Amino acid sequence: MMAEELELSAGNFIYDFIKEDIAEGGMYEGKEVHTRFPPEPNGYLHIGHAKAICIDFGMAEKFGGKCNLRMDDTNPTKEDVEYIDAIKEDIQWLGFDWENRFYFASEYFEQMYEYAVELIKKGLAYVCELTPEQMRENRGDLTTPAKSPFRDRPIEESLDLFERMKNGEFEEGKMTLRAKIDLASGNFNMRDPVIYRINKISHHRTGNKWCIYPMYDFAHPIEDAIEGITHSLCTLEFEAHRPLYDWVIDNISSPCKPRQIEFARLGINNTVMSKRKLRQLVEDGYVNGWDDPRMPTLCGLRRRGYTPASIRNFCEKIGVSKTNSVVEYSFLEHCLRDDLNENAKRVMCVINPVKLVITNYPEDKTETFEVENNPRKPEDGTRTITFSREVFIEAEDFLEEKVKGYNRFYPGNEVRLKSAYIVKCTGCKKDENGKVVEVYAEYDPETRGGDTPDGRKVRGTVHWVDAANYLDAEVRLYENLFTDPEPDVGDKNFLDYINPTSLTVLKNCKIEKSVEGAKRPMNYQFMRLGYFCLDNDSTADKLVFNRSVSLKDGFKKK
Ligand code: ATP
Ligand code: MG
Repeated sequence: MMAEELELSAGNFIYDFIKEDIAEGGMYEGKEVHTRFPPEPNGYLHIGHAKAICIDFGMAEKFGGKCNLRMDDTNPTKEDVEYIDAIKEDIQWLGFDWENRFYFASEYFEQMYEYAVELIKKGLAYVCELTPEQMRENRGDLTTPAKSPFRDRPIEESLDLFERMKNGEFEEGKMTLRAKIDLASGNFNMRDPVIYRINKISHHRTGNKWCIYPMYDFAHPIEDAIEGITHSLCTLEFEAHRPLYDWVIDNISSPCKPRQIEFARLGINNTVMSKRKLRQLVEDGYVNGWDDPRMPTLCGLRRRGYTPASIRNFCEKIGVSKTNSVVEYSFLEHCLRDDLNENAKRVMCVINPVKLVITNYPEDKTETFEVENNPRKPEDGTRTITFSREVFIEAEDFLEEKVKGYNRFYPGNEVRLKSAYIVKCTGCKKDENGKVVEVYAEYDPETRGGDTPDGRKVRGTVHWVDAANYLDAEVRLYENLFTDPEPDVGDKNFLDYINPTSLTVLKNCKIEKSVEGAKRPMNYQFMRLGYFCLDNDSTADKLVFNRSVSLKDGFKKK
């Protein structure tokens, strides 16, 4: 999606729908807007979830309402407290608050069971003994209705069988409870969908209490109804399930009538977004954990240096639309750069150092310069940097011979050492392999601060670090995790497109001493190199930085 489109889609149809509902009064009379965010606790949240979170919490916020956090744990698979804690942490980090409204869908199993019994008693549900395979064979097609020989069994019989299903008398797959809706419906979700199945797996919260579990389409509207949700916002794949959502609400004695509204899922290029695939990347060791800075997970982005503001801003700008589309990764980076450009502290770090010796500078002299922390925010104050006879510069800032358009160090050329002095390159020293090990220059004492008194032009300005006063650091540079923009589309195996150079570790970096004692979260602009943040792996005597994003904006407005 490009910038203009993004701006157009920012006018939000969900907002308009909710506004209409309130204006109409009726069942929304006197009610606060109440939404929920319902993650399944089977993995870490990713940037797609951030979109949903911003919509769910954001809509409630816009209307002065509330948003619940609900673990959608109706599937009795192995859920992990680790995921639950991480989900809470990520939402709080984004800046949203569910206050005391934290729920588990599994808390409602009893009520769901009772609503199912209610449907049976009303003649709106029946126990079906078709095996999953037979059910598939009997689902019909567009012109042929589905079939079940059990549809018209007496209510009493279904009640009895359903209770015995609950009591564990039948094997998995032997029976299901189906809603009695319309076997000929053009919407296959309405062809007497299964609403309960037998599943003899222990549940992480309810243990072995239940051996029947509700299907999502039955459970979700009930969860919403119990919590008094007014607007149930979800992704587009549930659109065709909405008639079933409404059917459930209309046919149980629901305390309220939530409205389901769907929006498009977020996809981002050069990455994958499904929890299953992300888990595989972690478990098979393609990345170093869920919070690997290359992951599109919220903990990964946080570790990478993304700020809550940049992610919320991104979600706001991509807007809410009804068509699924893929947003460019560079747009996410653009939003981060926007934030850090305003707010990050500037420092100098040399990631691929070579020594520059200023031969006419006194041997044991060190002078100091007071420089602004952030020229865009004078209120952020200044810091002191030191300058001595030897400084580090980037190896790539020196060439033995002039190349057209190259304004940095080559013999005879004048270059500005940022904020310090103008120096003139005089040569270099090489080792036996021809590798440049030292560069030489002479400084002009009249240029303290970097200005030429006579107004002569100096085109190149480079960053540097005082070799008499620095800290060692490791710097990690990142590229896309996948080489293919759509690594998991069609029949592609996303693992075939892993980028082998997605991580570069530079272990011999030199950084100015002012960063000593810094703690996460701390975002820096390393001059000329990009925006960086301190990594979790940092210790008191080993600094590790991640490049969050480079300085150059790859996102082009058309
Ligand atoms: P995944 O396919 O990544 O496992 P999911 O939909 O199974 O995702 P849930 O935990 O069920 O994950 O998602 C919680 C909420 O977040 C749901 O309302 C879902 O619609 C929403 N959501 C998940 N992925 C995205 C996405 N890519 N874009 C927008 N919303 C999303
Ligand atoms: Mg899900």
